[in-house]
Amino acid sequence: MVNIKDFLEELKILTGIGGNNLLGIFFIFIYYKYMNEYIFIIFMIFLLIFMFKYKIIKFLNIANTDYCNDIYVFKTPKKYLTNKNNMNVLIVSGTHGNENTGIVGLLKFIDFIKNKNLKIPFKSLTIIPMINKCGYEYNSRFTVHNINCDDLNRCYPSDLKTKSNNIINDKIINFVKRSDFVLDFHDAWGFYKKNMGSIGATISISNHNEVQNLSNKIVENLNNFITKDYQKFSILNKNQNVIQGTLSNYCSLLDKKYILIETTGQYNVVKLDERIEHLNIILYSFIDFYNN
Ligand SMILES: [Zn+2]
Repeated sequence: MVNIKDFLEELKILTGIGGNNLLGIFFIFIYYKYMNEYIFIIFMIFLLIFMFKYKIIKFLNIANTDYCNDIYVFKTPKKYLTNKNNMNVLIVSGTHGNENTGIVGLLKFIDFIKNKNLKIPFKSLTIIPMINKCGYEYNSRFTVHNINCDDLNRCYPSDLKTKSNNIINDKIINFVKRSDFVLDFHDAWGFYKKNMGSIGATISISNHNEVQNLSNKIVENLNNFITKDYQKFSILNKNQNVIQGTLSNYCSLLDKKYILIETTGQYNVVKLDERIEHLNIILYSFIDFYNN
């Protein structure tokens, strides 16, 4: 007979998940209800697979490294650029593969530029919609192939002398260095105004007057569109949110104009169509700001 207490204690250490975990309680319930250690063990095996599935994919090397490192870069052809503003703009998303607003929205935006002959008031516009391509395909925040980095938004160098430890961050860094302005799309799990610890429905901005003015405009347009009060967007000053290894932190080292957009969010808390509306409002406010 398996000693359930020892087993749970072991599992707790192994996974870092405490006894108040809902799934854990569910399995303990199953165990006591049926008193069958084999059923219990099978459920535990499924639980472990569920928790470690991306590590298992990585360990078994299922995701192809060359394929996963090959990110898609869209450089807006010259015929769409009006050169009204002398800026090189970079828009990125999909650093975390389970955050899909930017990925789906920017791919649609690229089609829109091409089909509607959209005029863009910059010297150049580069879009990288899917930084963590395989993470997106496996719906994982983390990278799922063999690369020296699990969370790509923690692997940018924390000073300008050091290099990153992997090929994807290096590629992004090359684009960042050539850009004057970076827009970085993410999805959060909750709402800043409602859920403690979440920065969903916020934009975090670099310390430039121009970015502040632009952000006021973006948030005004967003909040005119959003009806529920707790879902309305807020502006966060970047030094409230400095995490080493993030693109945000790296851009501030280079003194780039930068906006981190955190739509809500993960697990479809706000439906994808609505989140893409938010993304479109942000993009058109951005273009409109520099068109005038
Ligand atoms: Zn993210």
